[in-house]
Amino acid sequence: MTNEIVGRFAPTPSGRMHLGNVFAALIAWLSVRSQGGQMVLRMEDLDTQRTSDEYARLLRQDLQWLGLTWDRETLPQRRRTAVYDGYFEKLRELGLLYPCYCTRSQLHSVNAPHQSDGTYVYPGTCRHRADPPPDRPPSYRVMVPQERICLVDLCQGPYAQDLSAACGDFVVRRADGCYVYQLAVVVDDGEAGVTEVVRGMDLLGSAPRQMYLQRLFGFPHPAYGHVPMLLAPDGRRLSKRDRDLDLGQLRQRMTAQELIGRLAHAAGLIDRYEPVSAAELAAGFSWNKIRGQAIFLDRL
Ligand code: GLU
Repeated sequence: MTNEIVGRFAPTPSGRMHLGNVFAALIAWLSVRSQGGQMVLRMEDLDTQRTSDEYARLLRQDLQWLGLTWDRETLPQRRRTAVYDGYFEKLRELGLLYPCYCTRSQLHSVNAPHQSDGTYVYPGTCRHRADPPPDRPPSYRVMVPQERICLVDLCQGPYAQDLSAACGDFVVRRADGCYVYQLAVVVDDGEAGVTEVVRGMDLLGSAPRQMYLQRLFGFPHPAYGHVPMLLAPDGRRLSKRDRDLDLGQLRQRMTAQELIGRLAHAAGLIDRYEPVSAAELAAGFSWNKIRGQAIFLDRL
């Protein structure tokens, strides 16, 4: 065993890289490279309807253009179903899985209003189901304990969540047989030996569910760094809908050094704007320079 730092890029190849993805990838890379660690690339293409090999190819090209290098690429998620099956069985052996027949409309009627990230608190309806199951394939949920799961995020500081109050028993395999992101991400990061997970702030609320699965599967917890969201000057969150801010457009208007300089300046990594490469930023990188929940970015 070495105690090497291993970070990762885990993009979803469902479109061109967007500014928010660029920012998270830049910080992930800087943190790992500034510690002399390795970077792993993995395509998160569980959603076979929305993702494609062509977008995966463009994502690799965009990362290369940005100078965000990686040391190895692991198998994309759509080729790892058999591996996920093994971990699913492990949950079954632990006695923590149960089939859920609740329909979307049943879930919505008992659970409104939803939390801002789209999760809802599952009331455990099928955990105690007494009547015979309906004749349709179920999804599968993992039982969660009533316990606070705590972490100290590299960017956001202390964070705690009681899974039973925040989401309840959650789905790990959908009724169509597809595994969900929460299970796949834990298995993939765990098997790749990832020690540091850096991504957008919108996934902070998922970290405790992932830590719970890590514990059940016997993986060590990685360090987490959830980087702030990028906001337009009017406070609006920049999203995939701002097509002019994806790399297909931005690469025609500026160099990688200009783009990285703008992001690094907005994030507080450099005091004055100047074009700069990712490699040049690595030496001076410190998590202490990036704090908070949001970064305002003038339109590029
Ligand atoms: N695949 C996710 C995304 O592109 C990231 C998941 C993660 O970093 O854990 O937003």
